[in-house]
Amino acid sequence: MEKYRAVWALHHSMALLEWDMETHMPEGGAASRGAASGQLAMMTQKATVSLAPLLRKAEKSSDLDDESKGIVRSLRREVDFFTKIPPELVEERVRVTTEATVVWRRARKTSDYKLFEPHMEKILEITRRVADCLGYAKHPYDALLDLYEEDFTVRDADAVFSRLVPGSKKVLERVEAGGVYPSRHPLEAVRYSTDAMVRVNEGVISLLGMPKDRFRMDVSTHPFTIGIAPDDVRITTRYEGADFKAALFSTIHESGHALYELQLGDSLRFTPAAGAASLGFHESQSRFWENVVGRSREFSKLVHPLVRKNLAEVSKYSAEDLYLYFNAVRKSFIRVEADELSYNLHIALRYDLEKKMVSGDVSVSELPEVWNDVFEDYLGVRPKKDSEGVLQDIHWSGGSLGYFPTYSLGNVILGMIWHKLGDGEMVRESVQKKDLTQLEKWLQANIHRWGSTYSPKVLQERLFGDAYNPDRLLKYYEAKYLG
Ligand code: MG
Repeated sequence: MEKYRAVWALHHSMALLEWDMETHMPEGGAASRGAASGQLAMMTQKATVSLAPLLRKAEKSSDLDDESKGIVRSLRREVDFFTKIPPELVEERVRVTTEATVVWRRARKTSDYKLFEPHMEKILEITRRVADCLGYAKHPYDALLDLYEEDFTVRDADAVFSRLVPGSKKVLERVEAGGVYPSRHPLEAVRYSTDAMVRVNEGVISLLGMPKDRFRMDVSTHPFTIGIAPDDVRITTRYEGADFKAALFSTIHESGHALYELQLGDSLRFTPAAGAASLGFHESQSRFWENVVGRSREFSKLVHPLVRKNLAEVSKYSAEDLYLYFNAVRKSFIRVEADELSYNLHIALRYDLEKKMVSGDVSVSELPEVWNDVFEDYLGVRPKKDSEGVLQDIHWSGGSLGYFPTYSLGNVILGMIWHKLGDGEMVRESVQKKDLTQLEKWLQANIHRWGSTYSPKVLQERLFGDAYNPDRLLKYYEAKYLG
């Protein structure tokens, strides 16, 4: 671990550069920043691979405790990644995806898939090579899934989505027929001043108990969280001037991510286990705070005075109005605008297409049509143009295939946490008491402090006696929307 500190310092520095690039860097700095980050990435690869002999020794020790085993396992993943992917492939991937992202932006603007198609071909070809280098037992897509969710395979994903899709559709149909949750709410049209909304967000952050000396919030185009270290965690949010719930819930979402990083165990500092168990687990935390806590009836009551005080236009609306506004249910073509219930259908579609692209069952030229067919099957409406279909997300242009499923895994794990907390009883109690520390302590003791000591499957088995079981999530949807 003494030797690992050099790698840790490189990660620390790159994280800070990335944060700066998204928040404060003048646009003209992009080329220099790209060059510096590229150099640092190569140094990281070299420094990580140099630890291989020591790592082999550590792997032979028989007297390691759980944390040490987790550190060894996490380092093995880093070393393997940098050993298996040749530097030329890393370089080619960065070059191709950087160009593709620029073209994708243009293609989305003009809804012109043909423009993006040759780039997508190249990305798919490179992605298949990456999968081959990483190796897999059954399906090449397994190698890609494992990058974001350790040990998670096509078999696991099929098991999750084959239950989640019909289950979500059923609840969604009943909610639409029930008419309790509106598809539109007049508060969506209410405009706000950024200054006023900043005060609301600051109030929410203090309700959530975010530590002022270890945490900061800035503004960026796409909200994100970055853990520089457990004593320096940063989030961003954005202000669009209307529909204030977008700014509110992106702040709560990112704060949920931040809390994970802030509550990592002290004994894991400067080690490769000082990070989330997986992306699914990370997303479970942001969505737990955003949806289970933030979109609850109790939380609507809790934030009502704060919102009214700062946004004068809201004063004629009750806490119950806020609750219905926060939980409007409507089918959207756009994933990031989807409600809690239809969200997983958007992800299931992407999962299905990625799997088939990687195995060659769907060609890049067929993507838009297949996308629209599956979308229509899941949500009953058909996108009219590719900008609201296959071209809407940035992920593929950046080469991130295998990433999308972790959004739904976050929901699935959230459902398991909800169930473990007495079907949400502890959440209702804590929010009613205006004291969220009980919840934060529970998450810290059971999830956060462990970092990646345990693989995501093992951590779930320990906590819930089960892994990636979507039934709890479906039960949570039913309890909330149909109860
Ligand atoms: Mg997130």
